[in-house]
Amino acid sequence: MKKIQAIRGMNDILPDQSPYWQHLESVITGILRRYGYREIRFPIVESTDLFKRSIGEVTDIVEKEMYTFEDRNGDSITLRPEGTASCVRACEQHGLLYNQTQRLWYLGPMFRHERPQKGRYRQFHQIGVEVFGLEGPDIDAEILLLSARILRELGLADRVHLELNSLGSTEARTRYREALVAYLEPHREQLDPDSQRRLGTNPLRILDSKVSTTQQLLEGAPVLTDYLDEESRAHFEQLQALLDANGVAYSVNPRLVRGLDYYGKTAFEWITDQLGAQGTVCAGGRYDGLVEQLGGKPTPAIGFGIGLERLVLMLQATEVKPAGLEQHAQIYLAAVGDVHTQALQLAERVRDALPSVSLLTHCGGGSFKNQLKRADRSQAQLALILGEDEARADTVTIKMLRDDTPQKTLPTLEAIDYLRTVLQSQ
Ligand code: ATP
Ligand code: MG
Repeated sequence: MKKIQAIRGMNDILPDQSPYWQHLESVITGILRRYGYREIRFPIVESTDLFKRSIGEVTDIVEKEMYTFEDRNGDSITLRPEGTASCVRACEQHGLLYNQTQRLWYLGPMFRHERPQKGRYRQFHQIGVEVFGLEGPDIDAEILLLSARILRELGLADRVHLELNSLGSTEARTRYREALVAYLEPHREQLDPDSQRRLGTNPLRILDSKVSTTQQLLEGAPVLTDYLDEESRAHFEQLQALLDANGVAYSVNPRLVRGLDYYGKTAFEWITDQLGAQGTVCAGGRYDGLVEQLGGKPTPAIGFGIGLERLVLMLQATEVKPAGLEQHAQIYLAAVGDVHTQALQLAERVRDALPSVSLLTHCGGGSFKNQLKRADRSQAQLALILGEDEARADTVTIKMLRDDTPQKTLPTLEAIDYLRTVLQSQ
């Protein structure tokens, strides 16, 4: 029979890999806690309209990447392609944005039907950060410092750089769009097909094209910076001054745009050159119009998303070896003879007394020799051996597996004290 495989582009994270994920998640959520951000969780599916209305009808995501299904009652639902829209929906629905600020984060899978390749999958994971009710630029600087710290404390600082831009106000972008279209229109034939289509629908997205002939053509194009409104310009200058004062290095990239329509003013990406075309590891910006667009009161907002798969790939290329990478139990409990009940009881006693120690019980019986072989293969540091004599006398035999210390049989209580001493240093 043909075995069932995972859906293309959707990965299993196996036990050998999970220490990297646990490491990332614990470093990042630890930093978020230190900055006073709180976790929010929301469903993985939402009404399709939520994403259409927020991300924008003529974006790659909505046009061709969403997993959209009909629910059994005929409603159109979508597996979330990102978290910002859901986060806004949840905050609005529960009144979290009324007269208050929020600093929030979430973590979980996102879904986009893209062509799978290294660093690009159909189910991937993001840690998202969103701040509501603050118009910055101090909060813009805070979340950039926060993202910089995450990369630094993960040991990746020298493998990434920060690119910044200001996307200005809606009016500024409208004026710029006209200028960009006027420039590109006469060269329409030289554009790649996607960009040709975008010329009529979402021309700013052309700036983000990865096709080199299109990029060459863009070299002579007007730049958004020249079309910025006064307020956005001042905001951007203040942000840069704050970053300078805090020693955050960045470069201004006037062609940086984001793939989602709701962004305005500050936009940024942390980029590595180690993952080819999948070089953006963290991306975000300000989206002051989105809450209102989804039916709430006008609320300034800014956020970013970190792609965890890309960080895992980067971490694996470093010397960083997360705790637990070579994880194995410290104690292997061998139970020889008719002592199954006592063995489980002993295991529980040890776990009660030594909560930080890991103990693997041998299950399924077998000869003494066989059990010791298993103990050795488990990489445990020592074996506890419970035979019928020991069980009767409430004693246990301790055999060190990694050195020549002679084995000894002790009353159980003394044995636990002994274990505490030899395993404490770990
Ligand atoms: P890209 O330009 O690489 O397609 P994007 O602009 O679509 O990225 P965002 O929507 O801003 O990405 O998502 C934020 C982050 O999530 C990205 O910087 C990236 O690290 C990660 N990400 C996005 N799409 C994928 C994917 N299909 N697979 C893995 N990670 C992804
Ligand atoms: Mg994308």
